Amino acid sequence: MTKDGVKLIVPYKLKEILVTQAQLHNKVQELGRWISADYEGQELVLIGILKGGAIFMSDLMRAITIPLSIDYMSVSSYGTSATSSGAIVIRKDIDADIRGKHVLIVEDLIDTGLTLNHLKEHFRSRDTLSVRICTILNKPSRRQIDVQVEYPGIEIPDAFVVGYGLDYADQYRNLPEVWVVDTEG
Ligand code: 5GP
Ligand code: MG
Ligand code: MG
Repeated sequence: MTKDGVKLIVPYKLKEILVTQAQLHNKVQELGRWISADYEGQELVLIGILKGGAIFMSDLMRAITIPLSIDYMSVSSYGTSATSSGAIVIRKDIDADIRGKHVLIVEDLIDTGLTLNHLKEHFRSRDTLSVRICTILNKPSRRQIDVQVEYPGIEIPDAFVVGYGLDYADQYRNLPEVWVVDTEG
Protein backbone atom coordinates (compact mmCIF):
# COMPACT_ATOMS: atom_id res chain seq x y z
CA MET A 1 0.00 0.00 0.00
CA THR A 2 2.97 2.30 0.09
CA LYS A 3 5.33 3.29 -2.62
CA ASP A 4 8.58 4.93 -1.53
CA GLY A 5 7.01 5.43 1.90
CA VAL A 6 4.06 7.45 0.55
CA LYS A 7 0.63 6.40 1.80
CA LEU A 8 -1.78 5.99 -1.08
CA ILE A 9 -5.43 6.95 -0.72
CA VAL A 10 -6.95 4.10 -2.72
CA PRO A 11 -6.83 0.85 -0.73
CA TYR A 12 -5.60 -1.39 -3.51
CA LYS A 13 -2.11 -2.78 -3.61
CA LEU A 14 0.25 -2.06 -6.40
CA LYS A 15 1.53 -5.50 -7.35
CA GLU A 16 4.57 -4.88 -9.51
CA ILE A 17 6.11 -2.56 -12.06
CA LEU A 18 5.18 -3.69 -15.55
CA VAL A 19 6.86 -0.93 -17.56
CA THR A 20 9.78 1.09 -16.14
CA GLN A 21 10.51 4.79 -16.61
CA ALA A 22 13.45 3.87 -18.86
CA GLN A 23 11.28 1.66 -21.08
CA LEU A 24 8.66 4.42 -21.37
CA HIS A 25 11.33 7.01 -22.17
CA ASN A 26 12.94 4.86 -24.87
CA LYS A 27 9.61 4.08 -26.54
CA VAL A 28 8.56 7.76 -26.49
CA GLN A 29 11.84 8.75 -28.18
CA GLU A 30 11.41 6.00 -30.80
CA LEU A 31 7.81 7.05 -31.54
CA GLY A 32 8.93 10.69 -31.74
CA ARG A 33 11.59 9.91 -34.34
CA TRP A 34 9.18 7.74 -36.33
CA ILE A 35 6.39 10.38 -36.34
CA SER A 36 8.86 13.20 -37.18
CA ALA A 37 10.02 11.27 -40.25
CA ASP A 38 6.52 10.31 -41.40
CA TYR A 39 5.00 13.82 -41.16
CA GLU A 40 8.00 15.87 -42.37
CA GLY A 41 6.69 18.87 -44.36
CA GLN A 42 3.04 18.21 -43.46
CA GLU A 43 0.60 20.08 -41.22
CA LEU A 44 0.31 17.91 -38.12
CA VAL A 45 -2.15 18.28 -35.21
CA LEU A 46 -1.71 16.12 -32.11
CA ILE A 47 -4.95 15.49 -30.25
CA GLY A 48 -4.44 14.21 -26.71
CA ILE A 49 -7.25 12.24 -25.10
CA LEU A 50 -7.87 13.45 -21.53
CA LYS A 51 -7.18 12.67 -18.86
CA GLY A 52 -5.03 9.56 -19.28
CA GLY A 53 -3.28 10.64 -22.48
CA ALA A 54 -2.05 13.96 -21.06
CA ILE A 55 1.22 12.64 -19.57
CA PHE A 56 2.24 10.72 -22.68
CA MET A 57 1.17 13.69 -24.84
CA SER A 58 3.48 16.09 -23.02
CA ASP A 59 6.43 13.71 -23.39
CA LEU A 60 5.66 12.77 -27.00
CA MET A 61 5.33 16.32 -28.34
CA ARG A 62 8.83 17.11 -27.06
CA ALA A 63 10.21 13.99 -28.77
CA ILE A 64 8.84 15.17 -32.13
CA THR A 65 11.23 17.45 -34.01
CA ILE A 66 8.94 18.90 -36.71
CA PRO A 67 6.47 21.83 -36.34
CA LEU A 68 3.05 20.82 -34.98
CA SER A 69 0.02 22.13 -33.13
CA ILE A 70 -1.84 20.46 -30.28
CA ASP A 71 -5.32 20.17 -28.84
CA TYR A 72 -7.12 18.02 -26.27
CA MET A 73 -10.40 16.19 -26.14
CA SER A 74 -12.29 14.35 -23.43
CA VAL A 75 -14.58 11.42 -24.22
CA SER A 76 -16.39 8.76 -22.28
CA SER A 77 -17.94 5.59 -23.58
CA TYR A 78 -21.41 4.24 -22.87
CA GLY A 79 -21.65 1.25 -20.54
CA THR A 80 -18.88 -1.09 -19.47
CA SER A 81 -16.25 -2.55 -21.75
CA ALA A 82 -18.15 -5.85 -21.59
CA THR A 83 -21.50 -4.45 -22.73
CA SER A 84 -20.43 -1.32 -24.56
CA SER A 85 -21.03 -0.76 -28.24
CA GLY A 86 -18.20 1.70 -27.83
CA ALA A 87 -20.50 4.62 -28.63
CA ILE A 88 -18.78 7.69 -27.25
CA VAL A 89 -19.93 10.90 -25.62
CA ILE A 90 -17.75 13.94 -26.22
CA ARG A 91 -17.23 15.68 -22.85
CA LYS A 92 -14.85 18.29 -24.21
CA ASP A 93 -14.36 18.85 -27.93
CA ILE A 94 -11.27 20.28 -29.60
CA ASP A 95 -11.05 24.02 -30.34
CA ALA A 96 -8.68 23.71 -33.30
CA ASP A 97 -9.78 23.80 -36.94
CA ILE A 98 -8.53 20.47 -38.26
CA ARG A 99 -9.89 20.68 -41.81
CA GLY A 100 -7.17 19.92 -44.34
CA LYS A 101 -4.74 18.79 -41.64
CA HIS A 102 -3.18 15.50 -40.56
CA VAL A 103 -4.60 14.38 -37.22
CA LEU A 104 -2.70 12.14 -34.83
CA ILE A 105 -4.74 10.92 -31.85
CA VAL A 106 -2.59 10.44 -28.73
CA GLU A 107 -3.91 7.84 -26.25
CA ASP A 108 -2.68 6.21 -23.05
CA LEU A 109 -3.85 2.66 -23.77
CA ILE A 110 -5.83 0.77 -26.38
CA ASP A 111 -7.83 -2.07 -24.93
CA THR A 112 -10.98 -3.21 -26.77
CA GLY A 113 -10.36 -0.59 -29.45
CA LEU A 114 -13.99 0.56 -29.42
CA THR A 115 -13.30 4.12 -28.23
CA LEU A 116 -10.55 4.70 -30.77
CA ASN A 117 -12.56 3.18 -33.59
CA HIS A 118 -15.33 5.73 -32.97
CA LEU A 119 -12.86 8.59 -32.57
CA LYS A 120 -11.14 7.75 -35.85
CA GLU A 121 -14.46 7.82 -37.71
CA HIS A 122 -15.40 11.04 -35.91
CA PHE A 123 -12.27 12.85 -37.13
CA ARG A 124 -12.44 11.36 -40.62
CA SER A 125 -15.86 12.97 -41.05
CA ARG A 126 -14.36 16.42 -40.33
CA ASP A 127 -12.53 16.82 -43.67
CA THR A 128 -9.12 15.89 -42.33
CA LEU A 129 -6.30 14.79 -44.64
CA SER A 130 -5.52 11.75 -42.50
CA VAL A 131 -6.33 10.31 -39.07
CA ARG A 132 -3.87 8.03 -37.28
CA ILE A 133 -3.49 6.69 -33.74
CA CYS A 134 -0.50 6.73 -31.41
CA THR A 135 -0.71 4.95 -28.06
CA ILE A 136 1.99 4.37 -25.47
CA LEU A 137 0.42 1.09 -24.23
CA ASN A 138 -1.38 -1.57 -26.21
CA LYS A 139 -3.35 -4.68 -25.14
CA PRO A 140 -3.93 -6.48 -28.46
CA SER A 141 -5.26 -9.61 -26.69
CA ARG A 142 -8.32 -7.61 -25.53
CA ARG A 143 -9.31 -6.22 -28.92
CA GLN A 144 -13.02 -6.43 -29.86
CA ILE A 145 -12.70 -4.48 -33.07
CA ASP A 146 -9.89 -4.44 -35.59
CA VAL A 147 -8.92 -0.77 -35.42
CA GLN A 148 -5.67 0.12 -37.14
CA VAL A 149 -3.09 1.53 -34.70
CA GLU A 150 -0.30 3.09 -36.75
CA TYR A 151 2.03 3.88 -33.81
CA PRO A 152 1.36 1.10 -31.27
CA GLY A 153 3.82 1.72 -28.41
CA ILE A 154 4.50 -1.01 -25.84
CA GLU A 155 2.53 -4.25 -25.91
CA ILE A 156 1.32 -5.39 -22.47
CA PRO A 157 -0.61 -8.48 -21.27
CA ASP A 158 -4.25 -8.48 -20.13
CA ALA A 159 -3.82 -6.94 -16.68
CA PHE A 160 -5.31 -3.82 -15.09
CA VAL A 161 -2.58 -1.18 -14.99
CA VAL A 162 -2.14 2.29 -13.50
CA GLY A 163 0.43 5.06 -13.68
CA TYR A 164 1.88 7.25 -16.45
CA GLY A 165 -1.57 8.85 -16.82
CA LEU A 166 -3.71 5.78 -16.19
CA ASP A 167 -5.97 5.81 -13.13
CA TYR A 168 -7.86 3.67 -10.72
CA ALA A 169 -10.75 5.78 -9.28
CA ASP A 170 -8.84 8.85 -10.51
CA GLN A 171 -5.78 7.97 -8.41
CA TYR A 172 -2.28 6.83 -9.41
CA ARG A 173 -2.04 8.90 -12.62
CA ASN A 174 1.13 10.53 -11.31
CA LEU A 175 3.14 7.33 -10.86
CA PRO A 176 6.11 7.68 -13.22
CA GLU A 177 6.08 4.02 -14.21
CA VAL A 178 3.26 1.58 -15.15
CA TRP A 179 2.11 -0.74 -12.34
CA VAL A 180 -0.15 -3.78 -12.21
CA VAL A 181 -2.91 -3.41 -9.58
CA ASP A 182 -3.57 -6.37 -7.30
CA THR A 183 -7.34 -6.69 -7.85
CA GLU A 184 -7.54 -9.73 -5.55
CA GLY A 185 -6.10 -7.84 -2.56
P1 5GP B 1 -11.09 0.83 -25.23
O1 5GP B 1 -9.90 0.58 -26.11
O2 5GP B 1 -11.49 -0.42 -24.49
O3 5GP B 1 -12.25 1.45 -25.93
O4 5GP B 1 -10.74 1.91 -24.14
C1 5GP B 1 -9.48 2.01 -23.66
C2 5GP B 1 -9.49 3.00 -22.51
O5 5GP B 1 -9.97 2.37 -21.32
C3 5GP B 1 -8.05 3.41 -22.22
O6 5GP B 1 -7.68 4.54 -22.97
C4 5GP B 1 -8.09 3.64 -20.74
O7 5GP B 1 -8.50 4.96 -20.48
C5 5GP B 1 -9.11 2.62 -20.23
N1 5GP B 1 -8.41 1.38 -19.85
C6 5GP B 1 -8.34 0.22 -20.54
N2 5GP B 1 -7.55 -0.69 -19.90
C7 5GP B 1 -7.12 -0.08 -18.76
C8 5GP B 1 -6.25 -0.47 -17.68
O8 5GP B 1 -5.68 -1.57 -17.60
N3 5GP B 1 -6.05 0.46 -16.71
C9 5GP B 1 -6.64 1.70 -16.73
N4 5GP B 1 -6.35 2.52 -15.71
N5 5GP B 1 -7.45 2.11 -17.73
C10 5GP B 1 -7.69 1.24 -18.74
MG1 MG C 1 -7.78 6.59 -22.46
MG1 MG D 1 -9.80 5.71 -16.41
